[in-house]
Amino acid sequence: RPVLELTDVVREYPGSPPVRALARVSLTVTAGEWVAIAGPSGSGKSTLLNLMGALDRPTSGTVRIDGHDVGELSDERLSGLRGHALGFVFQSFHLLRHLSAVDNVAVGLTYRGVGRAQRRARAVHVLERVGLGHRLDHRPSQLSGGESQRVAIARALVGDPALVLADEPTGNLDTRTGADILGLFADLHAEGATIVLITHDEEVAAAAPRRVHVRDGRLSGVAA
Ligand code: ADP
Ligand code: ADP
Repeated sequence: RPVLELTDVVREYPGSPPVRALARVSLTVTAGEWVAIAGPSGSGKSTLLNLMGALDRPTSGTVRIDGHDVGELSDERLSGLRGHALGFVFQSFHLLRHLSAVDNVAVGLTYRGVGRAQRRARAVHVLERVGLGHRLDHRPSQLSGGESQRVAIARALVGDPALVLADEPTGNLDTRTGADILGLFADLHAEGATIVLITHDEEVAAAAPRRVHVRDGRLSGVAA
């Protein structure tokens, strides 16, 4: 089952002449895959991430996320798609500093109509899954970088998204902690999660079983 399908995607930014950030890019990610997208600064990674994350629409071509054509959805439906189909992991964790680990994770269920007790139970369960069952009531300031990123990964997973989008998830971590986080992605992949990891770092990309390269707005090594 395709979870993400980019077909002949062009993304241009206004200017004279316009900046062609992506030039007829196609890529399919199927359920259960872990794909790394690697490329240097300015190659088009953020542009891709914004399209894959339903934060932006293509200039031409189609982007389908979990079967939905983002070009045909209203802003409101796009936001709904982000909340239901996608889990985001960022370089800088983006945790709420006044909330405990478990509450930060439960936030990922806010718009899903899940009751409070269920939210907590599910958050606890995912935190255990990422190895943080002993840090439930800690706040971000009491957690290490690696632990913070595990909380963020738990938040991304708690709603059982079709796709996890990770943007430089090891970028703020030392090499060893980064390797631990990549090991966690490997475990999640083994358990069936679908993951797209975007990075400028070839060594990080090497952790993923499938790698795609982006350069000057074009993809290479796309075949699954
Ligand atoms: P990366 O994330 O790999 O650094 P980007 O997707 O940010 O790459 O950028 C790809 C290209 O598009 C670059 O040439 C960049 O300068 C250009 N670009 C990105 N965003 C904008 C924008 N809002 N307006 C004009 N050009 C942009
Ligand atoms: P980091 O520096 O931690 O990688 P950024 O703040 O640069 O993260 O965000 C990376 C991309 O994700 C940006 O395109 C931004 O618009 C988007 N983004 C940031 N926060 C969120 C969020 N809470 N939900 C969805 N998208 C977000």
